[in-house]
Amino acid sequence: MDNRFQSIRGFNDIFFPESYKLQSIEDTAVRYFNLYNFREIRTPLLEKTDLFVRSIGTSTDIVEKEMYTFEDSGGESLSLRPEGTASAVRAYLEHSIDKQDPVQKWFYRGPMFRHERPQKGRFRQFYQAGCESLGIADPFIDVEIIKLADTIINALPVRGITIRINSIGCPECRPGYIKVLKSYLGTIKESLCDDCKRRIDTNPLRVLDCKKQGCIAATANAPKTTDYLCGDCSAHFNTVKTGLDGLRLSFLTDPRLVRGLDYYSRTVFEFTAEDAGAQNAVLAGGRYDYLVELFGGTHTPAIGFAMGIERIAGLIDMPSTQGPDVFIIPLTEESKQKALAIALLLRRGGRTCETGFGEKTLKSMMRRADKLQSFSVAIIGNDELKEGYVTLKRLSDGHQEKIKDADIVNAVQSIKA
Ligand SMILES: [Zn+2]
Ligand SMILES: [Zn+2]
Repeated sequence: MDNRFQSIRGFNDIFFPESYKLQSIEDTAVRYFNLYNFREIRTPLLEKTDLFVRSIGTSTDIVEKEMYTFEDSGGESLSLRPEGTASAVRAYLEHSIDKQDPVQKWFYRGPMFRHERPQKGRFRQFYQAGCESLGIADPFIDVEIIKLADTIINALPVRGITIRINSIGCPECRPGYIKVLKSYLGTIKESLCDDCKRRIDTNPLRVLDCKKQGCIAATANAPKTTDYLCGDCSAHFNTVKTGLDGLRLSFLTDPRLVRGLDYYSRTVFEFTAEDAGAQNAVLAGGRYDYLVELFGGTHTPAIGFAMGIERIAGLIDMPSTQGPDVFIIPLTEESKQKALAIALLLRRGGRTCETGFGEKTLKSMMRRADKLQSFSVAIIGNDELKEGYVTLKRLSDGHQEKIKDADIVNAVQSIKA
């Protein structure tokens, strides 16, 4: 290939069986989203840049340096979506769904885009599945959503996951905490990285989120959000913790967990995996009770999470994949029509099968069946055509039987058992 046409760095072609693994993870998530009565929403991959800037916040890594932003030919600034929540909230308001029925439960899946440094398990086009519950303030919704996340992770199955939760308060109590945090950070400023020195003024909460060892050590005794919650936030957080205990779900209360995006309030949570000593979030979410208001709607409490499909894929073994149940071998030109009919019967009966069209000899078709790791072959020659049967052969031991056309599905079932 002419390498001028190569794909863009961090944007991948994904082939089987990796694609199958990602598909299994997404399908598992979707199955549980449906069980919890979430409905799918599909929003555009491209939105006006301001949507993300306003919701995610100007002094976040995403908005500062990770968005794919460009001007279209009309001069409008557009961005590829770096996450799913902002678009969901936009759609909620744009279609006046808040006025018809403010309580909505939505899920989404699909690609997100961030211009990060590509590294193991991190790509510039990556896949997420997530859900949003809009319109309910009850802390038991938080418990239910965290349990949903836990159920998906366990069904996959991913082991060695730690659930971390925290509360970052509300507009009532957070300013008081930020003030205390700022003055504390001022006293340890010299031990912080350059980014964090700057964040003291722009987004002090983010200093707690810094992954640099120096910053983690320097802020070990930083004041905790949970010590400054107002009465309502404190009661909310206590109910969430009690509810999780009631489900016997173990979790850590992590005062450093503040999440990187501006729009969160009260409950925030992360599911992390231990990877070479570092905490790697595979799923993250929280409340965003003020985001709908920020976009001009009425006050609407909300909570959601998103899971990183590739990050989770990195933690699970490749699922074992199988070849087709049957490879169909038409020995003559005349038997091809029947080969197709048998293939349709098998597929209708839920059996995977492959046809040998395109191969010319029995030998080449047998070779192809082997290569595809087919469980069996169904041979159809002129005798089979005339007398209404197929010759079904199990490839593991060569066991073979004549099977009446109409019995093919059951016969495959019984030789597989
Ligand atoms: Zn509060
Ligand atoms: Zn730092």
